[in-house]
Amino acid sequence: MSIFGDKCARCGSKTRHEVDGKATCVACDNEMQLLVEAKGEELHLCPFDGATMSKEIAHMIVVDRCPT
Ligand SMILES: [Zn+2]
Ligand SMILES: [Zn+2]
Repeated sequence: MSIFGDKCARCGSKTRHEVDGKATCVACDNEMQLLVEAKGEELHLCPFDGATMSKEIAHMIVVDRCPT
């Protein structure tokens, strides 16, 4: 990591923040924390086809997404 900062591994924005040795901006770090918390919750089934929905983060909100 250079003294000028690095590019966030997730969104590519310049950051000097780092997570597990990888340049990760604070916003992405926060999102990943949310995702870790969301993984502790039970998965929801799609109301339309019964498929297990995966958790995703959109605009700092955890959403359930149907894979189909
Ligand atoms: Zn980022
Ligand atoms: Zn579905």
